[in-house]
Amino acid sequence: MEVDISGKCMCGAVSYRAQIIEPELGACHCSMCRRWTGGVFLGLSVMPDAMAYEGEEHIQIFQSSPWAERAFCKICGSNLFYRVTAAGEEQGIYHIGAGTMDDQMEITLSQQLFIDQKPSGYSFCETTADLTASQVEEIFGSSAIG
Ligand SMILES: [Zn+2]
Ligand SMILES: [Zn+2]
Repeated sequence: MEVDISGKCMCGAVSYRAQIIEPELGACHCSMCRRWTGGVFLGLSVMPDAMAYEGEEHIQIFQSSPWAERAFCKICGSNLFYRVTAAGEEQGIYHIGAGTMDDQMEITLSQQLFIDQKPSGYSFCETTADLTASQVEEIFGSSAIG
């Protein structure tokens, strides 16, 4: 079942409408997401053809690795999405920052990535499917990182 969502950056210069297939969140504890977000990245997958941005001229794309990029608002710095650029199944899929959504009531945390890199001082209480760094690499290849 598809769910319509909308969202925007902190200043509102960038906004979007999208359809998501599963209202499920993934948390990523890897060191890059930690630095990028200043905490934990909570992402929601959106297929490329199900995403429509407004204010695209305000989106700054940062190539964070040879196979992936991260986008943020040029004006307010809000993190917008992570996206794999390398060829493969993941290519082009948006992993949007869940915090940018206008309404977050329908979403559930279902997975945690790089659980072995999570700082020990906090954790989520939801029951999730967790993957360690090496499990992530096994499943997605090295393109899952970065
Ligand atoms: Zn902004
Ligand atoms: Zn990460």
